Amino acid sequence: PQPASVRRISIFGVTGSIGGSTVDLVRRAGLAGSGGRFLVEAVSAHRNVAALAEAARALQARVAVIAEEGLLDDLRAALSGSGVEAAAGEAALVEAASRPADWVMAAIVGAAGLKPTLAAVRQGAVVALANKECLVSAGPVFMDAVQRAGATLLPVDSEHNAIFQVLAGARMSDVERITLTASGGPFRTWDIAAMRAATPAQAIAHPNWSMGAKISVDSATMMNKGLELIEAAHLFPVGEACIDVLVHPQSVVHSLVAFRDGSVLAQLGTPDMRTPIAHTLAWPDRMETPCARLDLARVGRLDFEAPDDTRFPALRLAREALRAEGVAPTVLNAANEVCVARFLAGEIGFLDIPAGVERVLEAVVGEAAGAVPGSLEDVMHWDARARHLAQGFAAA
Ligand code: NAD
Ligand code: MG
Repeated sequence: PQPASVRRISIFGVTGSIGGSTVDLVRRAGLAGSGGRFLVEAVSAHRNVAALAEAARALQARVAVIAEEGLLDDLRAALSGSGVEAAAGEAALVEAASRPADWVMAAIVGAAGLKPTLAAVRQGAVVALANKECLVSAGPVFMDAVQRAGATLLPVDSEHNAIFQVLAGARMSDVERITLTASGGPFRTWDIAAMRAATPAQAIAHPNWSMGAKISVDSATMMNKGLELIEAAHLFPVGEACIDVLVHPQSVVHSLVAFRDGSVLAQLGTPDMRTPIAHTLAWPDRMETPCARLDLARVGRLDFEAPDDTRFPALRLAREALRAEGVAPTVLNAANEVCVARFLAGEIGFLDIPAGVERVLEAVVGEAAGAVPGSLEDVMHWDARARHLAQGFAAA
């Protein structure tokens, strides 16, 4: 067999759940320094200096960037003697993302990932996109940048990765319907009174997936599926009405595509993000992963049910925002980020998350009077406006 060529990669959000899974796969596949094929350019984290330094050393990265400006000296100290360059702050993050790379993992959580991810897109890299908030917040601006740069976007989100795999070689005009599966989260069977009293610890305890705190709460409100609906609409332009959501508690069928001849194709697997990450890391080839293999006889049965819009209003809010276009998706995302953080901090209740998002949406969409964010600056303006109102939102 031909020796595989060396691939230069960067990992943004390296200390997170997706970042850690990516590091695991890269280390198993091997670094260029020790006979493998991966050469690591940049890694980044928010403020966990020790974890960032550990990842940077393990990956022999060229540069490690800590987003929090004031932590530069700490990072320098943690990296001393490693040969890894230390940098800090937003400008350094964007600079690192602009460095030439063959493959970039965008795994920062939230709209904080927007600027570095856009920088990676603009240098024309293959961008493995885990950060769904980018697409929700700045969809048209983001997709326009992808097109202009000729960048390749590979979806990491398991549902979108499934759809991407299923669509390989298919014509979009042959697609009749895309169905995003949803686990239903930890409160799938809870009544509304129990949901009202739900604690952060209960919301974060996801039945199938182990993930960061923010996306875990999003799964509990089902805003995650709402964000994924908007993400799917940008990645797979079949029209909002042709994308639906199906609750599937086992998280084995990762999504489905129905074609106009009646065929329905799906991608299946155990719930382990290393499978979709590996798909993007090796693309267009495949690579080995240590993930548990799917044993359908042991799973025994697969269940499906329609989502409940009454207990999970976030789904309806996201669909309405997608239909409304303009500032609505930006505002939905920003208000949700703030409300989730406030719920995690014990400031508001669980059901106040969608209630707060709805209140902020109404206010800001009214103010915007049909404005359409046409640039990153516009997006950041409406994002900030929504964050300000969501911060002041008083729970009922
Ligand atoms: P996480 O909270 O575990 O990790 C987030 C990473 O982003 C960390 O490295 C953190 O240091 C960094 N970060 C946080 N705030 C930052 C800021 N302000 N500036 C710079 N860096 C910052 O989150 P995660 O679960 O790994 O999720 C990452 C992204 O992937 C999210 O957008 C999430 O929706 C998406 N995603 C995650 C999963 C999953 O299974 N975890 C699945 C699908 C999609
Ligand atoms: Mg997902």
